[in-house]
Amino acid sequence: MWPLIFFVRKSEVCYVLANSKSIFVCEYSGIRMTPFLKQVADHYFNCGDIQEICFIFPNRRSMVFYKKYLSEVVASASDKPVIMPGLMTMSDFFGRVSSDNIADRVTLLVTLYECYSALNPKAESLDEFIFWGDIILGDFNDVDKYLADPKQLFANVADYKNLQDTFEYLTDNQRKAIEAFARHFVEKTSRKTDNPKAQDVSRLFLHIWNLMYPLYLKFNEVLKERGLAYEGMVYRSLAQKASSSIIEEILADVYDCRSYVFVGLNALNECEKVVMRRMRDAGIAEFCWDYSGEMITHELNKSSFFMSQNMKEFKPAFDIDAEGLGLPSFNVLSVPSSYGQVKHISGIFSRLGVSDCPSDCAVVLPDEGLLMPLLNSIPPEIGDINVTMGYPMSASELWALMGDVMKMQIHIRRKGDECRFYHKHVWNVLSNALFRKLMEGDQMQACREKVARIKQEAKYYISQSDLSGFPLFDVVFQPVVHDMSLADSRQINAMAEYQQQVLAFIAPELSANMDVALEVDFAKEYWCAVNRLKAMNLSILPVTYVRLLDSLLSCVSVPFSGEPLKGLQIMGPLETRALDFKNVIILSCNEGVFPRRTVSSSFVPPELRRGFGLPTYEYQDAVWAYYFYRLISRAENVWMLYDSRTEGLKNGEESRYIKQLRYHFRIPVNTYVSDAEPGLPTEEGHIVRKTPQVLEAISSCWLSPSALQNYIDCPMRFYYYSVLKLKKDKEVAESMDPAMIGNVYHNVMWALFTSEAEMMSDRVFDKREDKPQPMANVTKDYLESWLKREDDIRRKVESLMCEELGTDEIVGRNLVTVSVIVRYVKETIRRDIELLGFNGADCFEIVGLEKPLDATLYGLKFYGVADRIDRIGGKGNVRMVDYKSGKDDPVVLATDDAHAEGVAEVIFGGDHDKRKKFKAGLQFFIYDKMLQENGIADLKHVSNTMYATAGLFAEVPGVCQLNQRFAQEMECRLERLLKEIQDPQVPFTKTEDEANCEWCDFRMICGR
Ligand code: SF4
Repeated sequence: MWPLIFFVRKSEVCYVLANSKSIFVCEYSGIRMTPFLKQVADHYFNCGDIQEICFIFPNRRSMVFYKKYLSEVVASASDKPVIMPGLMTMSDFFGRVSSDNIADRVTLLVTLYECYSALNPKAESLDEFIFWGDIILGDFNDVDKYLADPKQLFANVADYKNLQDTFEYLTDNQRKAIEAFARHFVEKTSRKTDNPKAQDVSRLFLHIWNLMYPLYLKFNEVLKERGLAYEGMVYRSLAQKASSSIIEEILADVYDCRSYVFVGLNALNECEKVVMRRMRDAGIAEFCWDYSGEMITHELNKSSFFMSQNMKEFKPAFDIDAEGLGLPSFNVLSVPSSYGQVKHISGIFSRLGVSDCPSDCAVVLPDEGLLMPLLNSIPPEIGDINVTMGYPMSASELWALMGDVMKMQIHIRRKGDECRFYHKHVWNVLSNALFRKLMEGDQMQACREKVARIKQEAKYYISQSDLSGFPLFDVVFQPVVHDMSLADSRQINAMAEYQQQVLAFIAPELSANMDVALEVDFAKEYWCAVNRLKAMNLSILPVTYVRLLDSLLSCVSVPFSGEPLKGLQIMGPLETRALDFKNVIILSCNEGVFPRRTVSSSFVPPELRRGFGLPTYEYQDAVWAYYFYRLISRAENVWMLYDSRTEGLKNGEESRYIKQLRYHFRIPVNTYVSDAEPGLPTEEGHIVRKTPQVLEAISSCWLSPSALQNYIDCPMRFYYYSVLKLKKDKEVAESMDPAMIGNVYHNVMWALFTSEAEMMSDRVFDKREDKPQPMANVTKDYLESWLKREDDIRRKVESLMCEELGTDEIVGRNLVTVSVIVRYVKETIRRDIELLGFNGADCFEIVGLEKPLDATLYGLKFYGVADRIDRIGGKGNVRMVDYKSGKDDPVVLATDDAHAEGVAEVIFGGDHDKRKKFKAGLQFFIYDKMLQENGIADLKHVSNTMYATAGLFAEVPGVCQLNQRFAQEMECRLERLLKEIQDPQVPFTKTEDEANCEWCDFRMICGR
């Protein structure tokens, strides 16, 4: 069964300009286009003696398809067998002529560093060099492949005058480029008033720049001595040989064919051009360019940037697409999700009428991260799938797991004999899909319980002992790195052995599980890369080791096994070269992804790169444009999907190619918009009815003023929070949030009014059942003594903060928070002393401290904890003191007769901002009622005071006694509200005022 397609058509044919004539007059003609490689196979088979030709292709995939087409041509033309001609890729063609081995990236980097430190006595360490080394390697590679003269390119530009005199033989382009580059530095170094930092950067750059040429020479010399090479070196060597020797003789040593045909190449480097020119002039080479049709050859299209030159210089052997090309049907689908795009694949197949073995259909993935989601979304009817692009190591779970494991090791902390891991890294490991699979087994339940316990504790650093007890945990959570700042080969060796131990433990488990069998191949590759690095015995920092390993592994991909020519083809843009498909579906057709926005790092500034013919960003643009226009040129149906979200770094913009089709080529493009994914529905969409079960749950709730506040803000939030009791998971906090600051502040005040011993201990009251009794009276002298004991207050604050954060040291910005809380505490003490002064008293009586209160109001249960209840000088009203940290406004409510009704009205139903301002009124009223119910004092004899830290430093906390009229107004509204909550006819609904939703924890659940 094909799943339904979930998108709506925006318009039949969009963006065709009114009264303007499209430059394309026909839609797809219905003629089945002949694939490019098939045309090449036909042509050369008909020419005869095909077995004497060697065909050279851009990649292996095109070679495989060519072989298939050639077999078909041979089979249809005769019964006689024909000897298969030579087939190879361009890089194989160059590689076979050279006798040098191309070394891996790490070997090249280490060799480059050897040469660099030999030339530069003050060379930085290998660790610091790695980053620059990578860039220098890329530059040397380009210099050689594009046959730039390294001596001229890396000329010492410090002396601009010399430069002008010496380099008369440069081309105009090169001279201008060098002049522009040199002028920049000459001006920088001569302007003494310039920013000194900029001067330093210039000097550093010049220093490295001046080393580039000697480094290039030495690096080449050392590699040659060792029989090693980098790719550019191999290319230059063949190009030089070709220029100075007879090309037929060079090739005859390696190949035994009469002639060579270059098929479907595109961007050529200078070395390739030199060799191809020599072969062309010798009459032994022909060229077949996949370059036909009006769009790809349009002079304004970037795709013609280098192809038009190729066509001029290397004349094509025959006319491609002699019968002309039709116009495919273009369809664009915007989807507000990245993974959501793959969900539409089956719908598109359905529209295209794709069969169960769709070898004429290709799905192109510019973002390889969508590979796995795509494979999981292909309908079961599609029997054969061929993934050409391989599965990149960087997208595997094993890569993610090993990366997290190494991050955890690198950030390990030690305290005495105990090792502790940073909580985020531990959670990344524990939540890795592979690790979770590995936890399955006999001990799964016990493992899960352990993980749940660790989560519950929410510690900042998790000790090794907390993570031990299971073989998997014991292997992974063992400390290896001893000193992050130590560049020592023994430590690196230990890291490598640890990684191999982890791999050896998990690989057998993985191979037993079919779901993750592919990961075993990655484990093998990982193991080999670790072995290679281990063999080098490098004395480097742990972080450099990890970077080098990443550099070795980042380009590894594991091929999928299967029949390459059968079934649906899934490929990256690079693999599409020279291949044609009837149906083409391109995912992630977003600007910045297709074409990719990459700026490769280089020491050679753009003006010099351009002057010396090295590739620049224009080159990249042209390559991508060629891939796109070539891919669509022989298709019948093209679907382009893009992620339309504009969040984070995503711009939600469709690719420039879609715009070009619409506005430049004025081609009809069918545009569709996918439905957004619906949010999680609540019952009946927007309401929750009060069933008997819900009513029972309501009656068993313990409510508080903030629960009522929730109901007034949004009944649905009340339902989630108080009835369903949904809460956010406890998270490990890196720094103190307002609630945590409030907890610490409350705890210190509780300890202060309990006893001096409590202030000097590290205990936290709310975790203790045996709470000691508070002081009966707090004297002015006692308070004043604490103003002089700031260090003791600080120590208490720090110990409580450690408890809150689940850590045992306070660092970074949390140190600032310590000072802030200490100031709050001292200011509270000062205000209490002032208050005693105003009242002419020398002590206040503590009636209750963190006192639990409860009451049943109109059938619902209420619960609360009074921060402090006191009485000054032992006479008058009791005072209900509420400590408020954060931004709460210490507003003194006007509850006199004139304002009573208005304020009560706002509290129970005013707009969001006003209600927020008066929310203390609801709290005072409910707490005062609970005091009354608990027999502590009746409403008439209670005053309310809020010690709000936001205003503590500005004024003496005000006292608010609830006016009788106000109490009456509040009472009748409270009764109405509580009855409404219990009314089965009134469902829980979502608020209409979206301002209430801004900070709501339940947004994801309610779908707002
Ligand atoms: S997000 Fe808005 S509507 Fe939904 S529960 Fe929260 S406050 Fe209510």
